[in-house]
Amino acid sequence: MAIGANRIDIELYSDTRTKPTTGMRAAMAEAEVGDEQAGEDPTTNALCARVADLLGKEAAMFLPSGTMCNEIALAVHCRAGDAVVADKTSHIGNFEGGGPAAIAGVTVSGVDGARGVFSPDQAAAAVEQDYHYAPRTTLIAVEQTANLGGGTVWPLPALKAVSALAQERGLATHMDGARLMSAVVASGIAAADFAATVDGVWLDLSKGLGCPVGAVLAGSRTFIDDCWRWKQRVGGAMRQSGVLAVAGLYALDNHVSRLAEDHDNARLFADLIAAIEGVSVEPEHVESNIIYFDVKETGQTAFDIADRLAEKGVRIGPFDERLMRAVTHLDVDEEGVRIAAEALTNVVQAG
Ligand SMILES: *Cc1c(COP(=O)(O)O)cnc(C)c1O
Repeated sequence: MAIGANRIDIELYSDTRTKPTTGMRAAMAEAEVGDEQAGEDPTTNALCARVADLLGKEAAMFLPSGTMCNEIALAVHCRAGDAVVADKTSHIGNFEGGGPAAIAGVTVSGVDGARGVFSPDQAAAAVEQDYHYAPRTTLIAVEQTANLGGGTVWPLPALKAVSALAQERGLATHMDGARLMSAVVASGIAAADFAATVDGVWLDLSKGLGCPVGAVLAGSRTFIDDCWRWKQRVGGAMRQSGVLAVAGLYALDNHVSRLAEDHDNARLFADLIAAIEGVSVEPEHVESNIIYFDVKETGQTAFDIADRLAEKGVRIGPFDERLMRAVTHLDVDEEGVRIAAEALTNVVQAG
């Protein structure tokens, strides 16, 4: 693998950077299509049926992005002025441009979970504010895997406990399953078992599954019917979306079990960089394909290190001054991860 000066050869910035494989592109070229908005795209319908079945839900809806799945689900579950309980690191609270406030009209109550996973007691404390000058909490949202938590897999018992609390309090539940299939592969627990703990759940096709675009939101028939109006409102209805949906079907056939390689490579990367003086990482916390590491003790900022890695053809995202995030995926193999770790070693040692 040649490393060029201005070319990124090893892309560990995000699993969103995957490019469609030759097989996926061939499937896209052949896809049977129709008008999605009218429910007449056969391939999109097949994808929705497939994901609904996989997640053990009655119905599903194809959307352009995971962000749109989150925003639509919040809008359906909540009314303006409500509060949503989610981890303080949640994507909905931090990376959706204030969408919950702008679209659903809700605030997000951030719970101080452990690597993105909170306990039922913490969730209870966040919804407890049952006085008339507090917002009304209507929804608890979890992230599987927890992205900023470091790709943490929510354990099934923890999900069941949060779900029981929600049921007891009459709250709805939502799972941001951007990397749900990573959690499935990492834990050996079926997607439907994770999904059974929540009312609405989605999975992203454009992360580790390697599709160019798309996410699928699933839930009860009534929930998905309600989502359709919001899909229309936010401009998410499509036409011949079968060319995209077929990529999702292809990924579900070909790119799920291989996620295990991404997890192995992530763990390998963490083990390799743990040996670098000044780099702090906890390999035992790498449960899936995301590695956060702290470079404060190297004497360089994460931004500087990222720039110098890019000069060597390796891209790793600086998260802030001291934290960096690397994400493995199907376009980076074991050799790539070893080269990236070596490049990081050199950059740090060159001071
Ligand atoms: C990427 C991501 C999203 C958003 O998905 P897009 O398809 O990029 O809009 C939501 N939640 C989590 C946890 C993510 O990692």
